[in-house]
Amino acid sequence: MTLASAERTTAVLSGTALAKDIRARVSTTAAELPAAGTEPRLAVVVATDDESTAWYVRSIAKAAAGTGIRCDVVDLGASATPERIRGELGTLSEDPAVHGIVLQTPLPGAASLEDLATAITPEKDVDGANPVSLGRLSAGLPAFAPATAAAVAELLEHHEILLSGRRAVVVGRSNVVGRPAAQLLLRRDATVTVCHRYTRDLAAHTRQAEVLVVAVGKVGLIGAEHVSPGAVVIDVGTNPTEDGGLVGDVDADAVTGLAAGLTPVPGGVGPVTTALLLRHTVESAWRSTA
Ligand code: NAP
Repeated sequence: MTLASAERTTAVLSGTALAKDIRARVSTTAAELPAAGTEPRLAVVVATDDESTAWYVRSIAKAAAGTGIRCDVVDLGASATPERIRGELGTLSEDPAVHGIVLQTPLPGAASLEDLATAITPEKDVDGANPVSLGRLSAGLPAFAPATAAAVAELLEHHEILLSGRRAVVVGRSNVVGRPAAQLLLRRDATVTVCHRYTRDLAAHTRQAEVLVVAVGKVGLIGAEHVSPGAVVIDVGTNPTEDGGLVGDVDADAVTGLAAGLTPVPGGVGPVTTALLLRHTVESAWRSTA
């Protein structure tokens, strides 16, 4: 019997209980902030009429309300110019009542997140979008990591997955997920390989992984041939299905029985991401009272 066909239980590395726990702690902190002289407030700047973005922003606002954080959605419209967006981010950065600022993608025209996010002061950059935040993260300095990348690290810690000295492979190198996730794994002393669209023989790399993080946005990119027996797989991908659902980048059926653990989609990285955005906001609010 080969290792791959041996009976192995693949743990479902759910994020829902962890997210609930984080939100409960955020609520407690948020309730203490008025006595310290401030009320936690998050601003989400939107410049698109994309429906799925609107749905996502509503879900952030709802989660914020549930934890006692005020969430202002600043909708600039899909025709907003980069100057208008930059100006709004500057105003929010200077507003002492605002503690967290998120610039939601997609952005209009050729506007880039990295460029516009330079207008978000790093102290309020709760989704780690300002390149200064990514630079500080890379240098091992305190900074808000992008919430999705932070969710990957948080999930691994919650499920007690050892990282120190282990081989981790990250597929995807965007500034919002892959690159910062690799930095966070490196911080936890994993030996990290980053793969991308030009990586030759992806499976040869991913099969080396004891911890595999996939953040690409391609249904079924990772199958059984990409995963070594006993690996832990974190599926960050969220791909809409025709029936209105979501699937990840990993072929969960193919990998089940082979991997030691796999995050579900939905219910894995996603809920932890939103909860961490809120945790970052109360952390920023606390610092503002010092
Ligand atoms: P992105 O900016 O499009 O980046 C995708 C990355 O995948 C790029 O680095 C690209 O490489 C790489 N890639 C593309 N095709 C590849 C291939 N065949 N083999 C290996 N690498 C390949 O996407 P993103 O914003 O990082 O998001 C990635 C996924 O995560 C998406 O499904 C997104 O919806 C999801 N996501 C989920 C959450 C959550 O909360 N759960 C949050 C954010 C994003 P190059 O750099 O070479 O082009």
